[in-house]
Amino acid sequence: MPVLKTMFSIQETQNSKLSSVDWENLAFGKVFSDHMFEMDFENGSWKTGKIVPFGPISMHPAMSAIHYGQSIFEGLKAYRFVNDQVVIFRPEMNAARFVNSANRMCMPPVPEDIFVEAIRKLVELDKNWVSGKEGYSLYIRPFLFATDPLVGIKPAETYKFMIITSPVGMYYSEPVKVKIEEYYARASKGGVGRVKAAGNYGASLYPAKQCQIQGYHQLVWTDAIEHKYIEESGTMNIVFQIGGKLISPTEESDTILRGITKRSVFELAQSWGVEVEERKVSVEEIVQAARSSTLEDAFGVGTAATLAQIAIIGYRDEQLHLPPLETRILSNKLKNHLSGIKTGIVDDTFGWCFKI
Ligand SMILES: *Cc1c(COP(=O)(O)O)cnc(C)c1O
Repeated sequence: MPVLKTMFSIQETQNSKLSSVDWENLAFGKVFSDHMFEMDFENGSWKTGKIVPFGPISMHPAMSAIHYGQSIFEGLKAYRFVNDQVVIFRPEMNAARFVNSANRMCMPPVPEDIFVEAIRKLVELDKNWVSGKEGYSLYIRPFLFATDPLVGIKPAETYKFMIITSPVGMYYSEPVKVKIEEYYARASKGGVGRVKAAGNYGASLYPAKQCQIQGYHQLVWTDAIEHKYIEESGTMNIVFQIGGKLISPTEESDTILRGITKRSVFELAQSWGVEVEERKVSVEEIVQAARSSTLEDAFGVGTAATLAQIAIIGYRDEQLHLPPLETRILSNKLKNHLSGIKTGIVDDTFGWCFKI
């Protein structure tokens, strides 16, 4: 048997913080596990990655990521099966998307096998941070940023790739209220909406705050040109159900992030014989459907919350109420089935769970 050598150096922590975690009151993304991954890009190549105790990093004040935003990230989760096996949900999909994000932002892509192996190794080392409690998981945040110590606008020559992980509980506990946004835009054609570029999220905070002042949780983004077509909801993809069919804005437009959760939900629904449609979805169509009570369901899909059902859609001065949760058979079933796959209760016939 060949000895399996890891390609990374590992420095284990001497004082684990695991016993100090308040599992009952976990705010999303506030608590971090014992270790993190770090890998530098210099002189045209990636150096050896290392796993080190979690902690602050030092940076040059001219660091280009801060000034010009060459910074991208990913988000995925590790789960604990009921039989204690720890798995990561479809990490190869995030690896591929991270490459696309890097290319669009003129950054050196992290090779997909290194991306997946770095996550696997890190989660393996911190596997006790993956709680098996219902609704809990370990959120994994890979990110890549430019580190050139230089104030000059050009693609940087040095970069740092890091991965940190954070134990999390349920994201939204109640159905969400969303508002259709007709002024601000998240992304425009030819821009960077399709990729997880850090600046997209910074730019969304002000519009999101305005709608929160009005009592909503999140915005429903519409196209930047006419505000006629629905694109996404907050940082999630959006899905509607009309006439038993699942309908979602097409990802052909480069203004929409190609979500792995939405892909999984659609693959699952299709395997049950549910019809799915990806096309332009107009505000008009959804508002009319809601007014005439033919809008059976609407929900957001993304890694953080998985599937967040929408209770109310705000449109101008109107509040459109969706049917009660217990009547939303399909989305409830999708939600439960997906969580069943991630906890090993339901057979993973798709091969989505990557065992560490
Ligand atoms: C990350 C993200 C999503 C969801 O993608 P998942 O792969 O399902 O987590 C949707 N929209 C935006 C804008 C995102 O950043």
